[in-house]
This record gives sequence, C-alpha cells and structure tokens, in this order.
Amino acid sequence: MSQSEEITQQDPESVQTDSADVVTDHNHKLYIETVGCQMNMLDSELVVADLRKRGYELTQNVKEAETVLFNTCSVREHAEHKIYSSLGRLRYGARKNPKKVIGVMGCMAQKDQKLIFQKAPQVDFVVGTGQLAQVAELIDKARVNHSQNRRSRELAVGLGRKDGKREEITNSFQSYDPLRDPEMRPSPYQAFVRIMIGCDKFCSYCVVPSTRGPEQSRGPREILSEVKVLADQGVKEVTLLGQTVNSYKHTQDGKLYRLSDLLYLIHDVEGIDRIKFVTSYPKDMTNDLLEAIRDLPKATRYLHVPLQHGCDDVLKYMKRGYTVEDYRDMMHRINEILPGCSVSSDFIVGHPGETEESHQKSLESIREFRFKNSFIFKYSERPGTKAAERFEDDIPEEIKKRRNNEMLDLQNEISEADNAEFIGRQVEVLVEGPSKSALKASDNSADSLAEQLMGRSKCDRIVVFDGNPRLAGSLADVEVIDVTPTTLIGNIITREYQHQSGASLPILQ
Ligand code: SAM
Ligand code: SF4
Repeated sequence: MSQSEEITQQDPESVQTDSADVVTDHNHKLYIETVGCQMNMLDSELVVADLRKRGYELTQNVKEAETVLFNTCSVREHAEHKIYSSLGRLRYGARKNPKKVIGVMGCMAQKDQKLIFQKAPQVDFVVGTGQLAQVAELIDKARVNHSQNRRSRELAVGLGRKDGKREEITNSFQSYDPLRDPEMRPSPYQAFVRIMIGCDKFCSYCVVPSTRGPEQSRGPREILSEVKVLADQGVKEVTLLGQTVNSYKHTQDGKLYRLSDLLYLIHDVEGIDRIKFVTSYPKDMTNDLLEAIRDLPKATRYLHVPLQHGCDDVLKYMKRGYTVEDYRDMMHRINEILPGCSVSSDFIVGHPGETEESHQKSLESIREFRFKNSFIFKYSERPGTKAAERFEDDIPEEIKKRRNNEMLDLQNEISEADNAEFIGRQVEVLVEGPSKSALKASDNSADSLAEQLMGRSKCDRIVVFDGNPRLAGSLADVEVIDVTPTTLIGNIITREYQHQSGASLPILQ
C-alpha cells in the first residue's frame, strides 16, 4: 500500500492541515445527502453551518458540487444500500473531476469504517458520529492531497464498545454542538438541541450503541446557554434530542440534573413557547418527569415512547427490559398525571421468532394504547448486534410486508378516529409556515394556496388552516372542522371573532 493510500485512524485532536497548505482553487459548492433520524438532521445542519461560514454554498446539484458529503444511517440495511448506490453513481464524476472531495460521515462511517474505502474507492474520508468537528479539516486535507495527485483516505472514528476502558471509549465520541448562525437553521422558529449522545441500552437488534458510542449527557449549563442563544435568535420551539432522552442525567456543581430539572430551567427562558423531547425509553418514564410536563405550560403534551412489540416473548428477545404490563403501568401513569397527552410509538415487525400469534399481540397493543401515530419498521438484521449473533432472520419478506401493512392500516384507523374527536374543538397551534401542499402549489403558480399554513397542536398533531403567512412563529387558535389520519384541518379563530360571537369552543390541547 503506497503512502497516499495509507489509512490512518485519527485521534480526535490530531487532524491538522497546515493552513498554508489549504487549496482554494475549487468551486465551494457543497452537496450533502442526509438519511436517518433527527440526530442526523441536526448533525448535518451543524456541519453545513460550519462549512458555510468557511465560504461553502449549498447546492442541490451533486454534479456541480466539488465537495460532496453523505451523512449516513445504519439502523436498517436499506439506509446503507441507499448510500452505497449514491456513492456508486459518483464514481465517474470523481474520476472526471479530480477536484471533487467526497466524505462519508455518521453511523455507517462508524460502523463500516475502512470497508467504505473498499466498496467506494472514490471516498476521501470517513468520519464517525463523534468526530464531526473534524469535517472541515478533513476536506482541506483531501484537497491538498488531490492537488498533489494523491488520494487521501482518512479514517476518523470512535472506538468500538469493546476496544478499551469505558472512559477511553467515551472520550473517543465527542458531542458536536457549535453555536449556530440564525440564517443557517432550516426553520427560524424551531431548533433541535442535543442533550445527550450515545446509548447504553443495547437492545439486541440495534446498532446505535456501537455507532453512537456510550451514553453521555451534556451539562445543563451548556444546554441552557444554547437555548438562550436560540431564543435570542427568534426560536420559539426547541426539541431536545437523545436516543433515550428521558435517561438524561448530569451532575454539575454537585447537583444531579434529570430531564425534569432541565425542563424547569428551559421553561424560564424568555421567548421559548414550546419544549419537546424525543425519544423516550419506557422504563425511564419517571413521575417527576410527567409532573414537570403537567406543571410547565410550555412543555408539549406529547411523548414518543416506543413499545417496539406487543408480545412479551419478543420483547425478551429484543432485550428491551420491560413487559407489556410494565408499559401498561406507564400508560396508566401518563393518563393519570397528564390526561389528554398523546403518545406515539415505534414497532418492529418480523423480528426473529415473531409468530402470527405474537404479531396479533402487537396489533392488540395498538388497539389498547391508541397511539397518536406509530413508526413501523420491518426487522433488518444488523451485523455485530446480539440479535444477528443469536437468531436467524427467519421471517420471509412477504410476511414482514403483510404484517407491516396490517399494523399501518390499524394505526391509521385509530389515528383517524381519535383525530375525529377534535372536530368542533379549538387547538392552540404553533404556526410553522406554509403547508407542504401550499409550498408545492406555489412552485407552479403565483397566486395558489400560498396561504394554507401548517403547525402543530400542543399534543403534536399536524394542523392545517388558511391564514396570513406572517403568522409563522406565533401561536394561533384554530377550530378543527375536518380530519385525516395524520392531520387536523381547521379555521383560524381571531380574537375579534371570539369577542363578537362569544363562542366558547371547548379547548383541547
Ligand atoms: N432510541 C430510540 C428507542 O429506543 O426507541 C430509537 C432509535 S432507532 C434509531 C429508531 C427505531 O428504529 C427504533 O425505535 C426501532 O423501532 C427501529 N430499529 C432499530 N433497529 C432496527 C432494526 N435492526 N430493524 C428494524 N428496525 C430497527
Ligand atoms: Fe437502539 Fe434500544 Fe438504544 Fe433505542 S434504546 S437506540 S433501540 S439500543
């Protein structure tokens, strides 16, 4: 292997490019493809913001971009295939334009590491979830190498979960939370805020504990100052992110802070109207958290707490650490402390060992718990996980598909019936801006549905209604007149209307 092809594992601090060496002779067009969860969306947003500060300009056209990044996901095989095919399509372009720098970041980078260079030799660097601060330097380094007719193949990743002492592994995953530029955010009124990284739950089917490393909570002081900056920039709603966000724990100045304490701190930030958090873990849904949501008007009445399966045997194979009865107890506490709070779930169908009878139990759990919505995934065997080691992926694809559709149909039926309860009621909506159909229509015609707005109710239901686009970022009261399984459709109620008519519509949150 020649020196230029040598693959080096970078220590988090060690990527250094002599600034005198930076090559500026390229077009600064940046293309980024992001797949996966909200954590990935946030990572991409932050990396792009950093690069834009350095003069890069986003483009949707991969062909014209001389810097191409892929932010990847490994949770299901399908997400990885998608990235490998995109990389395959770039092979010719990279040969044709030697200025093109290609980087792969995120979960697949951490999981596949050097394999990525083998499968896609045009890739210049592979950077894991815990090394995102290095992206700009890795781009510069690749460019220098290209200018000297060398390929650089830099690998900057965290340690495997068995590759050292806990502290060493933890240190090899650094949370990436630089301060953000207001113009760089996708929405001026909403922002994700990372409160923790990693996961220590080790569900048997899941790659996240190895791709995102050990669970680490950020300090409350850092989180609070980030939220204050966001509020000063006009953000109205923050969504706190963590793989098991309600496991948040951090000791600062001798005091232990949990998620409930964080909610209290953030609630006091002037300008913030709404606080959400995802994703919660059923066993960590403690009463102090539910009571904080009850007592804090800015906290949304919405919890995303994946059940994953309705059969205890499968939950045991999954190593989720709870039974359906435990989940039921949690739902009782939620309903008691937070009446009207909506709950959504994730489910996996076709997990090894799932019988027709156990699948029926998952359907039954959707009927019993009446989730606002459920994300349903077909089991995907992930190399390196306990499930892949222990079980054969024995459910045929057609059965997985059929079970998936049955769950979706049932969930839709329940969502529509529960949404129908809102007809005739008033909901408070944080207006996000034009609805998707308004945006689509405004592409085609100047005076279209540009005034159909969308936002979310306090229980996280999507609400569409006609209104002045200037309402974006404010709270509006909307009377619901119709529904679909995913959306409440309504009319905005102005203060004048309420005064003159004296109408007292029942308020649902
Ligand atoms: N931390 C969250 C939790 O515990 O619920 C979810 C994180 S994971 C990125 C999002 C969802 O992907 C999981 O809730 C699970 O339903 C699904 N998932 C994870 N691994 C999977 C696999 N191997 N096959 C299919 N779905 C999977
Ligand atoms: Fe994966 Fe389980 Fe951790 Fe969620 S809690 S990220 S499903 S290991």
